[in-house]
Amino acid sequence: MKLHNTLSRKVEPFKTIKAGQTKLYTCGPTVYDDQTIGNLRTYVLYDTLSRALRAGGYTVDHVMNITDVGHLTSDADAGEDKLEKGAKRAGKTVWEVADHYITLFNGDLKKLNVIKPRIARATDFIDAQIVMVKILMDKGFGYQTEQAIYFDITKFPTYGELTGQNLSDKEVGARSEVITDKTKRNPQDFALWFFAVGRFAGHEMKWPSPWGEGFPGWHLECSAIIHETLGDPIDIHAGAVDLIGTHHTNEMAQTEAAYGNKLANYWVHGEHLLVDEKRMAKSLGNFYTLQDVMKKGYDPLALRLLYLQAHYRHQLNFTWEALDGAQAFLNRLRDWADLRFQPNLGHKKTAAAAYEEVLDKIKQSLANDLNTGQALVALSELANLSEQYGVDVNKLGALLPKVDELLGLDLAKRQAIDQPLKELIEEREQARRAKDWPKADELRARLGREGIELDDTPHGPVWSKKS
Ligand code: AMP
Ligand code: ZN
Repeated sequence: MKLHNTLSRKVEPFKTIKAGQTKLYTCGPTVYDDQTIGNLRTYVLYDTLSRALRAGGYTVDHVMNITDVGHLTSDADAGEDKLEKGAKRAGKTVWEVADHYITLFNGDLKKLNVIKPRIARATDFIDAQIVMVKILMDKGFGYQTEQAIYFDITKFPTYGELTGQNLSDKEVGARSEVITDKTKRNPQDFALWFFAVGRFAGHEMKWPSPWGEGFPGWHLECSAIIHETLGDPIDIHAGAVDLIGTHHTNEMAQTEAAYGNKLANYWVHGEHLLVDEKRMAKSLGNFYTLQDVMKKGYDPLALRLLYLQAHYRHQLNFTWEALDGAQAFLNRLRDWADLRFQPNLGHKKTAAAAYEEVLDKIKQSLANDLNTGQALVALSELANLSEQYGVDVNKLGALLPKVDELLGLDLAKRQAIDQPLKELIEEREQARRAKDWPKADELRARLGREGIELDDTPHGPVWSKKS
């Protein structure tokens, strides 16, 4: 398997720490609002990565966090906590807001066929985060002001390694941000722990700590959760590209400074979903949710297919026309899976090998830095062959569950009728072609008793289930 590693900016051969096992950590949602279909692109990427790893013969221990505290409206420690803001807007408690959006998030993942990772909620790891702050303070990486405890980035010489920027480049960026704490030593220092004072005096979520009541900074949760659940270093850390410069850079610094361990060997970053060439974001108001997509009559799996058509390291501009295309593609694959193409009548052109080859082609494409577009081309080519020369019912039946494991398109599920019935359909079609009318009629009647209706079309029989 080969993966692009943000650390080296190269596609590298993938090697795990322990043979055959992958420790994968991905940054999850902040649960203060609906997920946009931009966010969802990233979760489908995580899912594709974990499916590709499994297909490559690795076991995958995948942990994803849920941020329910400490994520401010600005990455530079300015602004409000997103959860507290969401709660005010909804007139609910922060905990109610978090629970509500976690439920919706789980529903979205299910509809998109995302295999659920182990979920770690930030507020369930407060103790672990406090332990980390303590270690960082003891080792001299942290300092305290009236408002917060900060990580002093000048104490960590490799700070910024992930972006390839040196400190002075970063400084220019950080200077343009609003500095809310004048006693911060360096503009890029980031909060490990906020005190429930000043703008945060009314904070609903707060915990006692050795330094005073407050709540953790956003970046800390990922470092602490990784340390507790998977153990650092991990094999792969993933997220969307917007996390590289601050969130992931800070996660790396914290873990390495506290525990002396590299955080992750590989960093996988997904590009954004755009609208009108701009990032789809809640803050920009240019977003759609999965509900919006479904209300317009699209299948959630058409959205999954749209994501898979693009390479994860390329931006993808969302349009309804593109989604139409993906839906049409999905429908075509479903027609194939439903055996709505003509059965194989002994033509040798869809040689058995084509079915086996396609599985290898999909696996190889995924193993090549998740080339999902190429995997779909291979699948589509086999569907074309099947339409032209007939479907090998048995081979297709055996293939589809394996394709589903790799791509999560639920094609096998579409085969809602049992294999013996499919074989009867094929047998009846052969009788019809041979003009053996009594046999064809008898088989049609038998199928009818099983609830299957047949329509003969120029392209072969199309079946439907009697409701
Ligand atoms: P948030 O809920 O804003 O913290 O974002 C959750 C995840 O979605 C993070 O990994 C973000 O980097 C990612 N994300 C945000 N916007 C987009 C987008 N337009 N396309 C892809 N991923 C995104
Ligand atoms: Zn994170």
